[in-house]
Amino acid sequence: MVSKCANPQCGAAFLYLHQGKLFRIETDAGWPQDPPDPSARKPIRRLEYFWLCDDCAAQMTLARKDGAVVTAPNVATRSAATAS
Ligand SMILES: [Zn+2]
Repeated sequence: MVSKCANPQCGAAFLYLHQGKLFRIETDAGWPQDPPDPSARKPIRRLEYFWLCDDCAAQMTLARKDGAVVTAPNVATRSAATAS
């Protein structure tokens, strides 16, 4: 579970739900070792919670990149270019 801000450069501790911003992100946890049916091979997905403190949430957001969760600059003016 979340214990601190997801920004590695920030040491803010997760204390209250109403502070900052909570993210629920699906992460890739790898591939099954021995799939029962090779045609049904899918990467194992895991839902994880990440939290950004107030200060960080104002400046950045979280994004998935190559299966990992990274911080990304928060774009203040949301355009329609989020259709990836
Ligand atoms: Zn922070």
